[in-house]
Amino acid sequence: MLDAQNVKKDFPIFSNHDDLFYFDSASTTQKPQAVIDSVSSFYSSSNANIHRALYKIGETATDAYESVRLKIKSFLNVPDTHEIVFTKGTTESINLVSNAWGRKHLKQKHSIIISEMEHHANIVPWQMIAKEKQAKIKYIPLNENGELTLDALNELIDENTKIISIVHQSNVFGTINPVEKIIKIAQESNILTLIDGAQSVPHFKVDIKEMDCDFFVFSGHKILGPTGVGVLVARKELLKSMDPFLGGGVMIDEVTMNESTWNQIPLKFEAGTANIAQVIGLGEAIDYVQNIGIEKIYQHEKELLTYCLQKFSEIDELKIYGNPRHRGGIITFNIDDIHPHDLAKFLDTDNICIRAGHHCAQPIMHKIGKSSTARVSFYLYNDFREIDYLCESIKKTISIFK
Ligand code: PLP
Repeated sequence: MLDAQNVKKDFPIFSNHDDLFYFDSASTTQKPQAVIDSVSSFYSSSNANIHRALYKIGETATDAYESVRLKIKSFLNVPDTHEIVFTKGTTESINLVSNAWGRKHLKQKHSIIISEMEHHANIVPWQMIAKEKQAKIKYIPLNENGELTLDALNELIDENTKIISIVHQSNVFGTINPVEKIIKIAQESNILTLIDGAQSVPHFKVDIKEMDCDFFVFSGHKILGPTGVGVLVARKELLKSMDPFLGGGVMIDEVTMNESTWNQIPLKFEAGTANIAQVIGLGEAIDYVQNIGIEKIYQHEKELLTYCLQKFSEIDELKIYGNPRHRGGIITFNIDDIHPHDLAKFLDTDNICIRAGHHCAQPIMHKIGKSSTARVSFYLYNDFREIDYLCESIKKTISIFK
């Protein structure tokens, strides 16, 4: 186990609040001082626009920004830095693919396969482009454990299937999906794959080369980085063949009154002034995670998950949704006769932060017959003591409602 009390010392939010019990890292993570300092230091020491300034601080800013591409290449084992595009987050990355790839390649009767387990970010962009192109969306169904029924995948695939876009780790059940298997099945039928890594990259080792997907996306703020930065990793040949998503500065080669030509990848997809400070902050966050070790973080969360599942099983009124065999540190649940919003509000009086709502995954809520649930999610700064405190607070809330 990591020494969470020690880890917490790196995160100023925990010293700025007496006893903050933060169980909502699937929503966004807290930020280490090093990340906050890197953002602040960029603005105070080398603030300048990138890829254009011909003076020293501009070069420093450009180098700092571009060095994060190299960090991501090494952290995720991406074949080439040209395959790494900076975006605003997972949501924008998927919209980039659905617009820039989908608008060009999807036609009437084509189909897109997603699953019943997706975050809205991996549903709505596909619905929008499918409507425009009169394409179809098909869903891999969930079983009662909150796992994908892969047997159904072969029946969904036909000659019109163009892309399979799947979440790596569910933000509701914590299910870690067998994406390697799905990618192999897709490749046998020449179908592209997109993996939503919003909940995987921060929590366990991801190797893009080994995974061999066509598109991979994640958000900086879920891996200790700032908000407003995310990443799309895509095969070079795909990025080259796609039209730009947004037009403007940086993404062009030449602009005349009548038409424009495009910059090389990845800048072809980074129109306008980038989120420079946020990208630099993401680089610092990746350094922080690598210094601790992603495998250690994974093991830490696994122990927290096992402990919390045991503790939750001792509370009769608590019902957990999903029981996937392969899962990360996320538990979704409800308490008999207590609305999850009420539960969250009561826990907040004990300084406990949990998520309550539909978790941006309304199709899952529909499937389990609930409009909302409560959710706890763990990260490297949580420990057993906090879980004990959470369970005591839940029991106290139950007794108030009795
Ligand atoms: N995909 C998954 C699985 C998520 O959990 C989230 C956020 O919770 C997203 C996509 C969207 O991420 P963002 O809001 O950072 O774009």
